[in-house]
Amino acid sequence: MSFCERCGRRSRLQLVEIEGARMYVCPDCSRFGKAMKEEKDVPSPVSTVLRPKPERSAKPDALTKRSKELAEDYPRRIQRAREKKGWSREELGRKLSERVSIITKLENGEMRPPDSLIKKLERTLEIELMEYVEEIHMTAGAGSRGMTLADFIVYKDR
Ligand SMILES: [Zn+2]
Repeated sequence: MSFCERCGRRSRLQLVEIEGARMYVCPDCSRFGKAMKEEKDVPSPVSTVLRPKPERSAKPDALTKRSKELAEDYPRRIQRAREKKGWSREELGRKLSERVSIITKLENGEMRPPDSLIKKLERTLEIELMEYVEEIHMTAGAGSRGMTLADFIVYKDR
């Protein structure tokens, strides 16, 4: 409790601004002024907004390499070509000097033919088993995102 700076009445005082002057006044007198917050003018704390780290440059450096690889659908290609020629697996095996079990495995995708056999198959069946793939080799740093090279292999000619 203190004395009103305007009327002198003993009262609970309030800080108001009356005609540009700040004073502590009673509730009655406060009607004549603008209520002020009693807080001192504390400069707002230095803003510590953390800026998100800038994204790394959008595209990681990458090297593109073109290479030929065994087509993923080689089992289908072999089987289709063989059937087109009207050969049984036994016949194809004989032409390739391979066991029937090998032909079966190839057509079931259970075995990847070695290079020498790929060439024989291509020649005998007149098909292409190899196809170009574009491999993009990620440079160091980009590899830490849990991506495997397979994510970057783009199959062509599909
Ligand atoms: Zn007063």
